[in-house]
Amino acid sequence: MAPVDRPQHERYDYICIGGGSGGVASSRRAASFGKKVALVDASPHLGGTCVNVGCVPKKLMWHAADLADRLRHAAQGYHFEGVPEPKFNWETFKPQRDAYIRRLNKIYEKNLEKEQVEYHPGHARLTSPTSVEVTRPDGQKYTLNTEHITIATGGRPTVPSEDEIPGASLGIDSDGFFDLEEQPRRVAVVGAGYIAVEFAGVFNALGSETHLFIRHDKVLRTFDPMLQDTLTQWMEHTGIQIHKQTGVRRVEGEKGKTLTIYHTNGETTEVDCLVWAIGRHANTENLGLEELGVKLDKKGDVVVDEYQNSDVKNIYAIGDVQGKALLTPVAIAAGRRLSNRLFGPEKFRNDKLSYENIATVVFSCAPTIGTVGLTEPEACEKYGKDVKIYKSSFRSLYFSQVPEDHKEPTVYKLIVVGEEERVVGIHIIGMGSDEVMQGFAVAVKMGACKQDLDDTVAIHPTSAEELVTLR
Ligand code: FAD
Ligand code: NDP
Repeated sequence: MAPVDRPQHERYDYICIGGGSGGVASSRRAASFGKKVALVDASPHLGGTCVNVGCVPKKLMWHAADLADRLRHAAQGYHFEGVPEPKFNWETFKPQRDAYIRRLNKIYEKNLEKEQVEYHPGHARLTSPTSVEVTRPDGQKYTLNTEHITIATGGRPTVPSEDEIPGASLGIDSDGFFDLEEQPRRVAVVGAGYIAVEFAGVFNALGSETHLFIRHDKVLRTFDPMLQDTLTQWMEHTGIQIHKQTGVRRVEGEKGKTLTIYHTNGETTEVDCLVWAIGRHANTENLGLEELGVKLDKKGDVVVDEYQNSDVKNIYAIGDVQGKALLTPVAIAAGRRLSNRLFGPEKFRNDKLSYENIATVVFSCAPTIGTVGLTEPEACEKYGKDVKIYKSSFRSLYFSQVPEDHKEPTVYKLIVVGEEERVVGIHIIGMGSDEVMQGFAVAVKMGACKQDLDDTVAIHPTSAEELVTLR
């Protein structure tokens, strides 16, 4: 069924508000059980953050950056002759990238159609625990009635107000990054989390003079300290100018032209583009949640229990809007399991997502990071003296042929507890860590012990084999 502009049923079994990773997955799963399902999405492009302004276009930019890095630093070492200094053409790549995303938007729409989920383009607002008012893009309104409602409205980037930082609005956020038509010659990225690290790496590898402003001394401060140390040092080594223990006090200039950034420590930096990457907050405004008594926490995230129930009966929340583990596969898994539980066969009656041991990757450029489970400080706090650490730091074979200055580090850490040496954390940084982590996450999820890794015959020659041969 193509997008609709009025209700096709008197009453639905289920309505998902938000057509991103979580809402699409949950609505399709519910419809697969034969339920009458409607999905309302306010964006002109279906698929939410991940598809439009997140994982997918980001990964394409990362691939471009990674390729530039290899051409620049490794091609010669492998005796490729006549490889010129790579020059990335942002202006022609962007429309190609956008066209790919538009194709994905269509595939998302087709998938809803296949599963017979009714797609209502428009803004949704709850008017009771069983009714949703839809405001169409042309301003017309109508109401959908239902048994169950899931909030899957995701989040958006946080940007400081003009009161907090005069001139802050001269900067862009991660959505604006994907709108950039040209590559800035000089760029400042503010923040120390996933997005700041990934964007700074991309800009730098593609040839922009890159400044990163962090409030402390390291990036990724919620990650294992080994990862923080290794990546911060290597980012500096690759030429990213990390301004530590500082922030932005004021910004002056003209958007799209030259901007002067006044640091809190008194210094100044001139750039052509400023990107705020200081976190995200949930889309919980104008949804009618407070009026119905749906509880939000101090940050504005919907408070849910382990089954994604809000504190109003038959209203649920999944994905970024509930504030835990802001990752696409988490939104998808929570959405599917919720629909299993609500509409699936008896065996799914207690289905829910476990938020423990969720693996995650940072597409730093380069090397990438993979991580699952507890960091060393978290493990020590939880298990005290029972914790044992296995660690290995080495150069991957690939870099044996690469000039000394560009031999990326590889560091692996395994955290185990107790006599049985159960694995409670794996943290890796090095080429290919993004791909290596998935399989090891399965092992951790299954409760693997160090001996299980030791009993696994290595795959040689790889970097990953190091994780099954640690001493
Ligand atoms: P979203 O995908 O944000 O979808 C919410 C939808 O709800 C949107 O379409 C919005 O328009 C709609 N909506 C909002 N309010 C209303 C309303 N009132 N009525 C109707 N519709 C409404 N995760 C990874 O796992 N890997 C990555 O590599 C990765 N990279 C990322 C890179 C960036 C730059 C960003 C910003 C995020 C990245 N993420 C990544 C995170 C990932 O994109 C999110 O966790 C995921 O998209 C969350 O899905 P969601 O369904 O909760 O919300
Ligand atoms: P993060 O929460 O990862 O990082 C934001 C960081 O910015 C904070 O940790 C903080 O670091 C710093 N910060 C916060 N406020 C300020 C401020 N006022 N001034 C300067 N720095 C500040 O948020 P992101 O926006 O990077 O990403 C949002 C989420 O999206 C991530 O948490 C992740 O779940 C998801 N994502 C996942 C990706 C992946 O899977 N590869 C990629 C991109 C996003 P400090 O305290 O050290 O200053």
